[in-house]
Order: sequence, then structure tokens, then C-alpha cells
Amino acid sequence: MKLQEYRSKEILARHGVPLHAGEVATTPDEARRAAERIGAPVVVKAQVLVGGRGKAGGVKLAATPDDAAERAAEIIGLDIKDTAVKTVLVAPAAEIAHEYYLGLILDRAAKAITVIASAEGGVEIEETARTNPDAILRLALHPLIGLQPYQTSRVAFFLGIPAELRKDFGTVMQGLHRSFVESDADLAEINPLVVTTDGRLLALDAKIVLDDSALPRHPDLEEMRDLNEEEPSEIAAREAGISFIKLDGTIGCMVNGAGLAMTTMDLVKLAGGEPANFLDIGGGAKADKVAAAFRIILDDPNVQAILINIFGGITRGDEVAHGIVEARSQLQRDVPMVVRIVGTNAEEAKPILAEASLITADSLDDAAAKAVAAVRSGT
Ligand code: GDP
Ligand code: MN
Repeated sequence: MKLQEYRSKEILARHGVPLHAGEVATTPDEARRAAERIGAPVVVKAQVLVGGRGKAGGVKLAATPDDAAERAAEIIGLDIKDTAVKTVLVAPAAEIAHEYYLGLILDRAAKAITVIASAEGGVEIEETARTNPDAILRLALHPLIGLQPYQTSRVAFFLGIPAELRKDFGTVMQGLHRSFVESDADLAEINPLVVTTDGRLLALDAKIVLDDSALPRHPDLEEMRDLNEEEPSEIAAREAGISFIKLDGTIGCMVNGAGLAMTTMDLVKLAGGEPANFLDIGGGAKADKVAAAFRIILDDPNVQAILINIFGGITRGDEVAHGIVEARSQLQRDVPMVVRIVGTNAEEAKPILAEASLITADSLDDAAAKAVAAVRSGT
């Protein structure tokens, strides 16, 4: 789960990272009053979960409260990479002497939380990685002892942090690290971390991405979720206890088990089709859950066929078949459905599916080919 800048800053501030928290506003008038309270000049910043807001016109300086209201009016409603801006952050404007990039990621290859640092801050790190990879330092942290003082010194030297700010830089890195570890993050970055003209370190922009699987441990962070920026279908799936990721293809997939779902998507592609989603319905797929999955899949107007691939273990094939037939009868919209059920009670499932005139398949290759054929004949 990605957190908005102002939420990420809340977490960093809790762990002692120096920054101007500012105030959020959803109307120009609120932005004006925030600027009055904060004291102009301020910066007005679009709160959307995409990078490059500055370049897209989503970050603007304002010299007076009236100016802040005008900038907010320009930014609210702006479309940044297909996201409409609803909220802005109003914060004291900083005078920048230098911008740095400082981030922590979970590096799966190194099996360690890893520092990424660059003196070319402000620009996206992916850009620096392409154009000037030598300008980036990567430093893996020990999984048990974590961030060590010699490592913060090493990063400070690499970046060329002025000597009088090295102690403060240590505070920033420790705070970033604690924010990462204590919120079970996958990524925490400050970009830019700046040295101001009056010689202070400040985190001007922040981005934290949380590990979804660890969210149940953090009810306070779950509340930071921004439902405005999530796919409605993914929200519905989470509520139904279904793992779902929307994609751009035409073949809806309903599968039990994440690995089997991945395999199903691969075989759809191999057969010349494009999956419309990843969907793992989980264990014991009863009629109500199957119905919820159908609704979520068919809510996507691109879907022209559904491939149902169920491996019966504890889940019995005939129960799933009944569930499919029952759930299908409640649907508003119908598309060709190809069903492959194997494992426990697969034989008992067959007559149920045949009676409901669903397309059946014995192998996964066959199922994928039939789903692709159904889409082709329908268009
Ligand atoms: P991003 O484009 O989405 O990463 O948004 P940022 O918050 O990083 O802002 C983009 C750029 O705007 C920064 O790299 C700075 O150069 C500039 N900027 C942001 N806040 C301030 C500020 O308070 N004062 C000044 N002078 N520039 C700012
Ligand atoms: Mn930034």
C-alpha cells in the first residue's frame, strides 16, 4: 500500500526526521487559511500516489495566502498521470541549497534492507540509474544489527554532506530506518532531502510503501489508506477476502491458489490471449465467494470470457461446480465460461457443468485455448 506524501511525512516525523509537516487542504479557501496559519511563502503540493508531480505542474510555490489559494485552484482537479488531484499539502517553502536522494528498499537479491543514496536528488532515482549509475550508492544493512553509525558516515561522505550537518544526517538516516522497520515498509524514500540556504537538513518530499501482508499488524497505518486512488474492483475483492489484481486483457480468470493463478495467466498468454486479472479465490470456494468473484471480474467491461480453473483438494469439485452454476444464475451480465475442475470429485462435477451448458476442459492448455477461441468468436 502506497502512502500519500503527507502520511509518509507523519511517520518520518514520529521518528525524528526533520521536516515541515504542513496542512492538507481540499479547497482553495482551505489552502488560503492554511497558508495564513503557516506563514507564507508556502509550497502547494498535489497529493497523488504518483511520482513526478513537480514536472506535471502539481508542486507550486506561493508568496502570499491569496497566491496559495490560486495555486491550489490550479492544482485541485489537475490530472496527473490519470489521477485527479483532490487534496493538496500546504507547507512552508524551503530555500534550497542542494537536493539529495535518500531511500531504503527491501532488496530481495541481497536479502537485506538496502540504502540507496545519490547527490543527484529531486529527479527520480530510476532516471539517475539509467543516465548516471555511478552517482548512486547502494549499501546493504545487516538483517539483525540494522543500520550502523559507520554506515551513516559512509553515506554522508559519499553524498558530500557538509561536515557540520553530518550528525543531523545520522538522525535523518536513523529516523528513515526506524520508520521503515517499524511500519513494515517495502520502500521509504526522501526525495529530495535538502540542505537549505540557512544550513539545515529537511525532508521535502517523502514516499512510503507498506507491505500489504504486514498491514494487519498496523491498524493505525491501515487507516492511512486512500480509497480515492484504488481500483474499486480491488477494494471489493479485499472486502470479499479474494486476492485480485486488475489487468488490461479480455479473459477473466478465477482460480484457487496464487501459483495456479499465475500459471493460468501464463497459459492464457501462451494460447494467444490476454488475462484481464489475477484472481485467487482462496480455499473452500463456496457459492457466495464464487458469486463475489464473478461480480468483480464482470465489472470490467473488457472481459469477454471467463476461465475458471479449480484444483479440488479439500475443496470438492462438485461443490465448486454447484457454486459456479448458482452464482452464474444471479449474474446481470453473462459471457462464455470455460471451466476446468480437477482433483477431488472432479468426475462428479462434470454432469453438473454439462447440464448448465458451461464449456468444460480437461487440461489447462485446452481450457486456455477454449477461452481464447470464445473471445475470438465473440468479437
Ligand atoms: P515530486 O515531483 O512528485 O517528486 O515532488 P517533490 O515534492 O519532490 O517536488 C519536486 C521539486 O519541487 C523538488 O525537487 C524541489 O526542487 C521543488 N520543491 C518542492 N518543495 C519546495 C520548496 O519548499 N521550496 C522550493 N524552492 N522548491 C521546492
Ligand atoms: Mn520528490
